[in-house]
Amino acid sequence: MTADLHSVAAEALEAVSAAPDLAALEAVRTRYLGRGDGELTSFRRGLGKIPDPDGRRQMGQMVNELVQRVGDALDERQRAIERNARAQSLEMEALDLTRPAPPLRRGRLSPVTLAAREIRRIFGLLGFEAVDGPEVEYDRYNFTLVNQPPGHPARDSQDTFYIDDWRLLRTHTSPVQIRSMLIRGAPQRVIVPGKTYRRDHDATHMPMFHQVEALCIDEGIAVSDLKGSLEFFARSFFGASSVLQWRPHHFPFTEPSLELELACVVCHGSGCSVCKYSGWLELLGSGMVHPQVLRNGGVDPERYSGFAFGMGIERAAMLAWGIPDMRLLYDNDVRFLVPETAIDGPSERSAP
Ligand SMILES: [Zn+2]
Repeated sequence: MTADLHSVAAEALEAVSAAPDLAALEAVRTRYLGRGDGELTSFRRGLGKIPDPDGRRQMGQMVNELVQRVGDALDERQRAIERNARAQSLEMEALDLTRPAPPLRRGRLSPVTLAAREIRRIFGLLGFEAVDGPEVEYDRYNFTLVNQPPGHPARDSQDTFYIDDWRLLRTHTSPVQIRSMLIRGAPQRVIVPGKTYRRDHDATHMPMFHQVEALCIDEGIAVSDLKGSLEFFARSFFGASSVLQWRPHHFPFTEPSLELELACVVCHGSGCSVCKYSGWLELLGSGMVHPQVLRNGGVDPERYSGFAFGMGIERAAMLAWGIPDMRLLYDNDVRFLVPETAIDGPSERSAP
């Protein structure tokens, strides 16, 4: 019996030191020291069978000592496992205050911002002052005063974000023409880059996009001033060797109206899918300010005349840098917005 007792105790101590974690340790405790049926504690039940009282007492003492020793070993092992776990988690959470900070990746300006700045710079050379107006605009300023009276197709709620019967998100920057005329009168030269909104979303349309608008009013302003200014702009922006052509067009707020086209930057005029095989890309709409629009802005059309133009800034950026999908401009894809070499400012770009 003594030999059995010692070998079970030795086995228990070995199991204790081999237990890798608290769960294994608990299993060892139950197996050897379990109340009543533990492999070690159950030796107590056999004590009654020992006839000699001295032998019984000695054996009882020995069982108690070994139970105590295994119990101590279990407690010691438990403390060691807990200490280890704490040290490990401290090591994992260690904060090294002397480590240098990771390098900061500098962002780049969006192509839309770069294009808007460049357009402002070029028109600044021609004496145009940059102004802006509210993005939440009165229906009257957005439509009626720029010759789009109630019933005009552009006022369709399919195309316009109305806020209530009177107000909307401006669909173009043209209401700023009226505001600027009412504030500055004549003569004046302003350029209006800003956000505009329409209910549209596909590869070439966004519900929010940027437009730039210019208005020049003075005595004796003629179509030649319009053509000279806008050709200067187009060659400064798209490159000195850009091939341009004018086409007659129609806009409600100008008369006559002209559209400026750029020879396709992809196929150089021979025809491709980008230019829909026409060889030309529509660049901007322009014209001589309609006398009624001048009158709506409080300017006397008998004395003054003016020209205006409007253009999508996203479209200008796409044409200048060959960006195939407008959604790329707004997807926040860092590979696109922070390229190593792909996009540089317009002034650093070589002529097409
Ligand atoms: Zn083409």
